[in-house]
Amino acid sequence: MSICFFEGEFRPTGECRLPVTDLVIQRGVGVFDSIRIYNRRALALDHHLDRLRGSAICAGIRLDGIIDKIRDAVRTGVQRNDCPDGGDCLAKTYITGGDVNEHGRFPNPRYFVIFESGPAIIEDEYTSGVWLHPTSEGRPFPKIKSVNYLVGLMEAAERHDVMECLYCPGGKITETLRSSFFISKDGRLVTAPVGAVLGGITRNIVLELAGEAGLEVDERCPDISELDYADEAFLTSSWKEIMPVVKVGDISIGDGHPGPIAKKLLKMFRSSLDRWLD
Ligand SMILES: *Cc1c(COP(=O)(O)O)cnc(C)c1O
Repeated sequence: MSICFFEGEFRPTGECRLPVTDLVIQRGVGVFDSIRIYNRRALALDHHLDRLRGSAICAGIRLDGIIDKIRDAVRTGVQRNDCPDGGDCLAKTYITGGDVNEHGRFPNPRYFVIFESGPAIIEDEYTSGVWLHPTSEGRPFPKIKSVNYLVGLMEAAERHDVMECLYCPGGKITETLRSSFFISKDGRLVTAPVGAVLGGITRNIVLELAGEAGLEVDERCPDISELDYADEAFLTSSWKEIMPVVKVGDISIGDGHPGPIAKKLLKMFRSSLDRWLD
């Protein structure tokens, strides 16, 4: 059972109800952020809340003091031990459009925070790598972490062999359904610039770690043809951390097995987590 902070109270998630008049239901107006909790400590809490604030402002949602209330709710929930699984979980923070639409401005939002286990972690995905499905679609409003995943979900619907879609509008690789994407070639990393993609919190941590590991990074959208020659590819997100990608569509990456750079960055990430914990 998961717990939700909703209308000022902590309650079982199953008892929380949004009115059918909320614009998140009627028009898909809503933003969110997922914060990883490690052993009862939130990772990069303020970075996530800054991004949530930015998403809401871009989407025209008026915030007033909501971000501070969400910060308190996350901290209180973590302290109350609302996380299942002994303190390793996700705090999923949502701000909805609410019931009022003033010409594309949303002055009365609702917000809530769900504390729940993330998807099961499958060790094989780290040791064997995962597959992605490339699509020529792009993600609208890349700087907004919107609740609307419809385009990306439809692109990989019923593809049980792939983890998720890889957005490649105009043949340029941006990001996946819910993760940042990197390739590595001759010890150089390439990843799309923020603006073309969401500013992934794990992405930023990986950029910092890459600098410490002496890896050069190019922030540009790689052409899809570069996958033919890449040594490695991987994706990053709060829940998956750093996960090797070994196939995109019909293209095998490198020798088709996870490579040393993704492995090294994951090891560095896990051993330096303390730096970013609340
Ligand atoms: C959430 C998300 C990411 C990953 O961000 P993290 O902060 O690293 O979890 C990347 N791209 C998209 C489209 C996302 O929704």
